[in-house]
Parts: sequence; C-alpha cells; structure tokens
Amino acid sequence: MNALTQTPITRLSSLLIIIICVVIAAVVIVVGVIGYTRRRRKRRRLNLLQLQGLNADQELVSYENAEPREEKPTSAPIPKEVSLVQESVYEPVGPGSSARRDALPAPPPSPSPPPSPAPPPAPESQPTYEDVGLPTWANQWIVAWEDLMVGKKVLGKGHFGEVHYGGVMFEGDVCRAAIKKLKENALPADRQNFFEELKTMTLHGSHPNLVKILGACQHEGILYVAMEYLSNGDLRCYLRKARSMEDDGQASLSPQKLLQFALDVAKGMQHLAASGVIHRDLAARNILLDDNLVAKVSDFGLSRGEDVYVQTSKTRVPTRWLSLESLTRQTYTSKSDVWSFGILLWEIATLGGTPYPGIKTPFLTSRLENGYRMPKPDNSDAKIYDVMVKCWQEDPDDRPSFKKLVSILETMADSKEDQIYMRLLPSSKQYLYENIHPELDDN
Ligand code: ADP
Ligand code: MG
Repeated sequence: MNALTQTPITRLSSLLIIIICVVIAAVVIVVGVIGYTRRRRKRRRLNLLQLQGLNADQELVSYENAEPREEKPTSAPIPKEVSLVQESVYEPVGPGSSARRDALPAPPPSPSPPPSPAPPPAPESQPTYEDVGLPTWANQWIVAWEDLMVGKKVLGKGHFGEVHYGGVMFEGDVCRAAIKKLKENALPADRQNFFEELKTMTLHGSHPNLVKILGACQHEGILYVAMEYLSNGDLRCYLRKARSMEDDGQASLSPQKLLQFALDVAKGMQHLAASGVIHRDLAARNILLDDNLVAKVSDFGLSRGEDVYVQTSKTRVPTRWLSLESLTRQTYTSKSDVWSFGILLWEIATLGGTPYPGIKTPFLTSRLENGYRMPKPDNSDAKIYDVMVKCWQEDPDDRPSFKKLVSILETMADSKEDQIYMRLLPSSKQYLYENIHPELDDN
C-alpha cells in the first residue's frame, strides 16, 4: 500500500526537480546572454571613445534618450555642452526620424544660415520598411537606424556623396558625426564605390591622420556611413578662406602650419600605404581638419586594397591629380598616390590653387608626357619645390615613398633655422582668386 502511494509522489517530486533544473538553466543562459551583449556594447562604446581620443569616464555629450516623449521639464540638470537644437535646422530623413531630431548635437555654426522651412508634418501613419543588412565584413560597425541622427545641414558635397551633420547614439550618449550618403542621382558604379569606401575605412585601422569611421547603417536601401566630425572642414576651402582672412588681419595660418598640414597628410598616407591601400583621390578637397587643425585623409571612395590597381571601367578620374601611368595606363599604386601628394603640396603652397591653372584637361596628358611639370610657386622655397618635383618623376621607382616624405618633411619642420618653406600670400586683393578655377577644380 505504502509502496503504491509513494511511487507517484516520488515520480512527481523528480519531475518537479527536473522542471526546476530546466528553469534554472534557462535563467542562467538568459542572464549570460544579456551580460555578454552588454559587455560587447560597452566594449564597442569604449572603442568609440578611444577612437575619439577620450577616456572612458569622459562623456562627449550627454543626452537623454530621444524616444518620443511629452514636453515636460526634466529634473536632471542639462549638461553644459548640450545646446538646444532648433527645429528648423534639421529635417526628418526617413520614417521615425522625427523622434531623433531632438537628440542631435548642436549644429556647427554657419556664417549666415539660410532660412530653412519648417519640416513637413509627419504623416499620420508612416510606412514601414525592412532594413537591409550590411555584408558580414561590416558587422562590427553596424549602427541601428534608430541610433543614427542625420541632420539637415549639409557639410559638403563631392562628386557622388553628400555629407550631413549628425550624430550616433551609443547607450544614450550622442557623438557628433558627419554622415555620408549617396546623392540622389548616383549611378550603380557610385554605389559600388561607396561600399568599397566603407570597406577601406573598416580595413585600414585607426590612425590620427586618417578620418575614422563610427558606424554604418543601411536603411530603405540607402547606405549611411557615420564618420568622426571634423569641424574645420576640408583643406582646400580652409586655405582659400584663409586668403581673405589674411586681409582682415585674422591670420589663421602660418608657414609652419602649412608645412604641418603636409606632414600630417604624409603620415596618414604612410599608414594607408603600409595597410596595403591605394587612395587614388588624394587632393586638398579630401583632406579634413579637426578642431585643432590636425589634417586627416578622408574620402576613400576610389580607394582599393590592392598593391597595383588597373582600372577597367570608365568611371570619373581626378585627372589633375593623377600620375602619368594612371593617365596613360590606368595603373594605380602607392607611388601614384605619391604623385598626387606632390600636387597636394602644390595646392597647400598656393593656398588652394587649381593645379595646372593654364591647361585645359584634354591637353594635360600629352603635356606631361612631353615632360611638362608645374613651375615653382613664387612663394615657395626651392627645397619644398624639390619635394614636389621628386613626387612627379616619370618612373614611379624614382619617387620617394611616403615614409621618406615623412622623414623629409619632419626634418624641415624640426629645423632650427626658422626657414620658411611656403610663405603666405601677400595680403592683397590681387591674390584673392589667383590660380582658382572652380570649373577645373575636381577634374
Ligand atoms: P565625395 O566622395 O562625394 O567627394 P567627400 O567624402 O569628399 O565626398 O565629402 C564631401 C565634402 O563633405 C568634403 O569635402 C567636406 O567638405 C565634407 N565632409 C566630408 N566628411 C566630413 C567630416 N567627417 N567632417 C566634416 N566635413 C566633412
Ligand atoms: Mg571628395
């Protein structure tokens, strides 16, 4: 009798023990997964802070999470750095973006902000879209669409890209960012190049003279790439603006600064070359300046992770910056980047001049084949012109490597003789537009 009544109870209790064990195991697994995910996100945030040269305990800018919420005074003190963002400055970029507008970092000051119309009211019911994933090599850099803030302010437009001011949210903190997307009229080849650009940015690793990637997101078939925001914009604009600033007596440049720009670029390019990447579009318009005027190489839209790249398709080429072998045989190597560096040095020396100002693009290749090279700019010392000429040697092997260029420029920068290698242009209206030909600027 006893045995009969005990057996089902024993069975029941063993069943209970099994159920309890399963529940405990499930809880342990769930807690483990959550912990792992949090650690990963934290690690990624730390990476991000490192990318920005900040310590983990330094906040870049603190924001409340930007989920749609009712207007009510917040009890938490607003951090000093947070400025209120004017509604009209930003426009929603896609479904759900109105929620993100109030979390955007304060936009950079613009000299005369054009009056911008208020954003259209959000439609009652927003269409929903499936976000398309990025290739697996980009996994580490994926940012959720909800964490990406794309502002209305356009920082600059290139041949195929459009760069907006914005931010990237990481666990409630917003980093200032420059967000690049393709222009509306971009061709399929441009799209391919844009993916290559993203790939290069993920490949070359971190260097103080290369623009850093913060993350990427593909939404409604549009690829957005978030990069560190560089407040002083591109070098060509900066140099050209400086021509008029000299007139105003607000000297923002010095001969030493000009040399430092060149050295910064050479260092970034040395790292890029050592990472096995050819840039193919090295020009002052693609060099960006940070808050402290540190120059960083950017725009890897034409770059390739190969030792030698032979272009087979007919895409646009920045003719005036190209080496002879790139113009005649469509061959690109690090040494053809060195040629472009020589042109960039000429751009720095002339405070943003257009290379070969007197030559029409179709005639350029034959002139170069016949041995023509740009003459020494009046304000340049023979030693810096000698560096340019070395970069323009016909045989790529006769050109210096970026490593060699860094060492040459470092010696110049460290020289105790206070020698001036690139004089600033005289403050006179005559020089304001000298050698600037916007119609030839990007060809
Ligand atoms: P494209 O590939 O179309 O030439 P770029 O990457 O060169 O596009 O960007 C175009 C312009 O946008 C640049 O010349 C610069 O003025 C601006 N810009 C690009 N990236 C940034 C950035 N990270 N910070 C600030 N401005 C930027
Ligand atoms: Mg560009």
